[in-house]
Amino acid sequence: MGKLDGKVALVTGGSTGIGLAAAQRLVADGAYVFITGRRKGELDAAVAQIGRNVVAIQGDVSKLADLDRLVATIREAKGRIDVLLANAGVADSAALGDISEEQFDRIFDINVKGTLFTVQKALPLLPSGASVILLSSVVGSKGFASRSVYSATKAALRSFARTWTTDLKSRRIRVNVVSPGAIDTPGLQGLTKMGSDGLADFYRDRVPLGRVGRPEEIANAVSFLASDESSYVAGTELFVDGGLAQV
Ligand code: NAD
Repeated sequence: MGKLDGKVALVTGGSTGIGLAAAQRLVADGAYVFITGRRKGELDAAVAQIGRNVVAIQGDVSKLADLDRLVATIREAKGRIDVLLANAGVADSAALGDISEEQFDRIFDINVKGTLFTVQKALPLLPSGASVILLSSVVGSKGFASRSVYSATKAALRSFARTWTTDLKSRRIRVNVVSPGAIDTPGLQGLTKMGSDGLADFYRDRVPLGRVGRPEEIANAVSFLASDESSYVAGTELFVDGGLAQV
């Protein structure tokens, strides 16, 4: 018996990186999983890799019409969402002085507006006892150079989890945050312009545990927060960062 047997999950940005590893883990735990992403080719590859109990719905979380279509499809197919992982997100860098309006709007639209409306539009499908997990980052609590816009979006998610825990109290819906440190994904490779070897070298001396993290290590935390193992955990931020932002 899996700890999520019979549960229905939605993972936004589930085609690569952390979202893909989390979707894989939720299926292994027994859930039926819907994944979203913008690129059909990557979604198809993710569905093939996960192999069973998974359906992909193409869409952009910053477009409300796409979210309406996503929720309508899940309502028709399963009627509910027990686990919602709002993972879709993008990062970019620019020092104060060089930040463009386009960059600000793009990152806030996907990371903040996209997360807010994903959860809000999914609300009618969330039963009592549902688990909502927001993918933030250590950057929400740090001041890494040239990351102010991205970091502010992740701090906003941490704030959402506090208020939504209160807003959803009467419905017994738990909202929590997972904040990864440096995790070897296509996203971090693109941002840093480093491959896996470069990331391993770069983070060896910067992370107390002496290495970059793996997407599966974030999936472990997601699995915990998705299940009844975390039945008394609400409104919290679970750092999975090898100690990067803790010491
Ligand atoms: P990734 O680029 O490998 O994956 C991001 C996923 O989000 C992709 O599937 C992409 O298609 C999807 N996505 C992006 N914009 C979208 C949109 N508008 N609509 C729908 N889907 C969209 O990156 P990742 O490293 O796996 O990041 C996943 C999450 O984890 C992000 O929110 C990121 O900010 C966060 N995070 C990553 C790290 C890290 O070190 N990799 C650290 C902290 C937080």
